[in-house]
This record gives sequence, structure tokens and C-alpha cells, in this order.
Amino acid sequence: MRLAAATKQGRRPKAGKDTPSVRIIQKPPVLTERNCSVARTVGILSDAWAFLVIREGFFGARRFEEFRSALEISRATLTDRLRRLTREGIFREISYSETSSRVEYKLTKSGIDLYPTFMALMQFGDRWLADPKGAPLQLIHEGCNCVSKPFVSCSCCHEHVVARKVSYRDGPGAGKTPIEPSRRSRRTADDFMRGRPSSVSRALEVIGDRWSFLVIREAFFGARRFDKLQVELNIASNILTDRLARLVERGVFKKRKYQSLPERFEYLLTPMGMDLYGPLIMMMAWGDKWRAEGKPPLILRHLDCGKDFTPTVICNRCGEPIHATSMKYRMRYNPDKFGGTKSGRAVPGRV
Ligand SMILES: [Zn+2]
Ligand SMILES: [Zn+2]
Repeated sequence: MRLAAATKQGRRPKAGKDTPSVRIIQKPPVLTERNCSVARTVGILSDAWAFLVIREGFFGARRFEEFRSALEISRATLTDRLRRLTREGIFREISYSETSSRVEYKLTKSGIDLYPTFMALMQFGDRWLADPKGAPLQLIHEGCNCVSKPFVSCSCCHEHVVARKVSYRDGPGAGKTPIEPSRRSRRTADDFMRGRPSSVSRALEVIGDRWSFLVIREAFFGARRFDKLQVELNIASNILTDRLARLVERGVFKKRKYQSLPERFEYLLTPMGMDLYGPLIMMMAWGDKWRAEGKPPLILRHLDCGKDFTPTVICNRCGEPIHATSMKYRMRYNPDKFGGTKSGRAVPGRV
């Protein structure tokens, strides 16, 4: 007690002529970021393990050991991710039976609703990143019983949506919010490639982490230059340099000199980069629906039909919206090599 009291008294600054009795403490500026439904979705999918667990959920995994054998993931990591995804409402726990205390993990409605986003990422991966042997999965749409290549379309005119045919404006949820101190900047790109061959993994391996997603998002908002990206994202310059270099190397951006003295470059989306627009607006649609409390930060208008729209993934053969329950897979790899479930169906059984 005496020691504590002495320390307290001894260190307190004394008020006097030269020392003001009230100190003005300057608070660090509060950093903010754009309200964005893409970022909210990316917050979930950019964690490689969380993404892989959801993917195996789409392949029918429900039990702890099913996830574990599919991904060769440690118990502690799997427990952590399942707990987190349950807290975020992507999975819910259900008992094996009334007499058992063990639980299974079942995708919720919001979890299942990530399926069209996965489809959009898969199509991107198939188009740009598949190995010469072809795509790992062939999709069969049960609605029309055809091999399907789903695409991102306008909910009003059902035409394919491309970036240059969309205008945007602020929605009721527009604005800025303080950046959460916990946001991650670590790259986990290599981890995406675990388990079965997957075009979704390949897509995420290229765009990688949350920062890469956000840099690409700003490019779709028209940011081309380093300074502009840095201001919009409040990103450290070393991280931005790293992500831009990587995205150039992977073919998402091309670098162009726009000034010689001093030398300055801008970053332009390549055709491959432009093709990320579909997956990006699907993530936005999911975030709008499940994370925006009815107040989307951004409204999209399709210039071809002149209407505000919600991006929707539809079957290229029959034009119907794609749901997890209406797709079958044909695997072009031997599923026995991987520990995952081999149902050949997305979300088998009841959902
Ligand atoms: Zn349209
Ligand atoms: Zn179809």
C-alpha cells in the first residue's frame, strides 16, 4: 500500500509556474474507411481457413472430423474457425441426436447464400487460372439438367453485367466508419490452396487478402494512382507497394508510366482484373443482404436497361438463378485423394 501510494504521488507532475496543471493530450486521429458491403464479406472470406471450412460445407461436410480430414487442419484451428463462423451466423450447431452432446455444423441461410459468390469466383478461376487439363469441377444445373457455366447478371434484364455498364451512387448506408484496429493485413494466400483442387481457391489465392480486395475495389471506383489509393484506404505505403506489385505480377493490374520527372506510374485493371467485377458485386450483394441492416452503402444501376439492380448469378443455359440446392458436380479429380466428402452435390439433403 505504502509503495503504491508513494509511486502515485512521486510521479504525479506538480503544478507550478512552468508546468500547466492540465495537460493537453493530443489524441491520434481516428482513421475511417468507406462503408462497404464488399469489405464486410471479404472480412469473412479473406481468412483462408474460414473460406475453406465454408467450401467444405458446400461439399456436404457437417461433422468436425469431415472438415478435419478434408483440410488436414489442426483441431485448435478448426475449433476456432467453426466457433467464429457460428458466431457470425454462417454455420449453426445442431445435435447429432437427442441423446448425444456432439454437434454437427450446418450452413445457415446466410451461409448458403454465399454460394452464388462462390460460383462467381469459381467461374473467374476457371476462365483465368485453371490448369491446362481444365476446370476441376463441372457444374450441372438440376433446373435444366445441363452442364452450366453460371454468370453474374442484372436482376432486371438478366443480361451479363460488366463494370463499364454500371453506374453507382450512394445508398442509405453510405458514409465512413472508424477502422477496426483488429483488421488483418497478413497475407494468407498460400493457405487457400489446401485440400481439393478448386477454382475458387485459385481466385482467392490471386486476390489473396483483404487489402488486395480493397485495392481492386478502389480501382473499380476509378483510383489509379498510388497516392489516391493510399488516401482512400488509409493503408501503409509498404503494404500498398507490396499488394500492387503482387497484383501486377498476377495479371490483375498493368503498370503504366504517366510522368517521367519524377517517374510516376499508375495502375490499370487488365481484362482479367476487370473480370473480377462479377465476384466483387456478388460479395457486395451478400453484404447488403446480410450485413447492412437494410441500408446498402451503394446502389448499382445497369446502364443497358437503365434500372437499379441486384447482381444475381444465373444459369447460362436456362437463365434461372443458381442456388446451392439446385447444383450437382462432376469432379474431374479423384476425390479419394482428398479426405473431403464425395457427395457430388452442393449441400446435400435438407437445408
Ligand atoms: Zn439490366
Ligand atoms: Zn439451368
